[in-house]
Amino acid sequence: MIRLAILAGDGIGPEIIAEALKVLDVLRGEGLQVSTEAAAVGGAAVDLHGDPLPDATLELCRRSDAILFGAIGGPQYDVLPREQRPERGLLRLRKALDLFANLRPARVFPQLAAASTLKPEVVAGLDILIMRELTGDIYFGEPRGIRIEANGERVGFNTMIYSESEIRRAAHAGFQAARRRHHRLCSVDKMNVLESTQLWRDVVTEVGREYPDVELSHMLVDNAAMQLVRNPRQFDVILTGNIFGDILSDEASMLTGSIGMLPSASLNATGQGMYEPIHGSAPDIAGRGIANPLAQILSLAMLFRHSLDRSDLAERIETAVEATLEAGCRTADIAQAGEKVISTTQMGDAVASALARGRT
Ligand code: NAD
Repeated sequence: MIRLAILAGDGIGPEIIAEALKVLDVLRGEGLQVSTEAAAVGGAAVDLHGDPLPDATLELCRRSDAILFGAIGGPQYDVLPREQRPERGLLRLRKALDLFANLRPARVFPQLAAASTLKPEVVAGLDILIMRELTGDIYFGEPRGIRIEANGERVGFNTMIYSESEIRRAAHAGFQAARRRHHRLCSVDKMNVLESTQLWRDVVTEVGREYPDVELSHMLVDNAAMQLVRNPRQFDVILTGNIFGDILSDEASMLTGSIGMLPSASLNATGQGMYEPIHGSAPDIAGRGIANPLAQILSLAMLFRHSLDRSDLAERIETAVEATLEAGCRTADIAQAGEKVISTTQMGDAVASALARGRT
């Protein structure tokens, strides 16, 4: 029996999670053995328990095979002390489960190629995956701070640091992801200037010898930023550290032109993972039934692929999403002028029906 924790969170989180659960129900109806248990997180948990990550929620996550996460946050919580803010709950959860491998696909569905700010011929068919290390690098390195020199001038400083073991486990996650795709991995660093990324390149090269079936290449980060807009389809999996990955993954997501379509995964060393849309809780549209549930549904597909080793079910869900788009279904965020707009629940229903029809 597969055990899933369902953390819907705030804003549009519960609306889009409900649609992902419809999709899961289709698979259950076909005999898939899966149990789900919901728990509060983020602002909803603050309202109920005064804590954005209650102990019971963390315990549920620990004993689950994977976590399907909606979104958290809202303006009403921005006035709370830092420890009680919804975002703290998310960060504590990532840390408690040691979710060090952040996978962010950027895929352009052919039906939506015109939504990108790049020319359709550059992005049509784009399907890349960025594997960003999430728990190390300059964001966590010590010492850090702002000090005052003897002459009174202020100096800000951070430490870019990676240990061999941190690089090694990130590299394994990257190579394994490449194995599930097109067997090509491009590792991005700045080894011409930064020693910590020289070590990154050395260790990734060593780990690469264990994956002779994956073609490894290396690229400097400035070139990678340029190549992502010049010819993004040259990439399959991009593996990189925390700060470079932060920037490159946002750049890549914009290639697709629609935030409501993009899922993500954060994995630990056991393959346990948390799966969530890259967008937030969208308080500006919450409660109106117009949010796009596809990033959440595609997060469920990633969950099957990366935590449950069921690429077959992941592909079926992705194919159902594509068929739904092909049939002309559009929520407001992805509709072009003149296209008919459907609601969150209609989109979820359409994907669930396409999935049920698509059984082979
Ligand atoms: P956002 O991603 O929530 O929204 C940005 C814009 O995109 C909004 O106009 C929103 O309506 C739109 N949008 C987002 N998802 C959509 C969807 N599925 N369908 C249609 N339109 C969609 O970012 P924000 O407005 O900067 O942040 C809102 C709240 O979300 C804040 O409290 C922020 O802290 C939080 N947040 C949470 C997460 C997370 O849960 N992982 C991530 C980012 C932001």
